Amino acid sequence: MATAHLERQPLALPRLPPREGPTLEDVLSRAWEDLVAHRTATCPVCDGAMVPRYGSGPSAVGGRCGACRTELT
Ligand SMILES: [Zn+2]
Repeated sequence: MATAHLERQPLALPRLPPREGPTLEDVLSRAWEDLVAHRTATCPVCDGAMVPRYGSGPSAVGGRCGACRTELT
């Protein structure tokens, strides 16, 4: 699973039962907040450093983990 690819599709996420701790959606939302603020985010997969990726514009279009290569798009 070194090349897991996470699409940001909140509407496609299944409803999860309540549980302790942050949900996957919480973790992904937090990572996105950091990426769009041009900060290094915590990888939701391995807790490594995820750096913002940029397209043709000034805002981040995703992120890539330097440790496990997971990408957020
Ligand atoms: Zn990672």
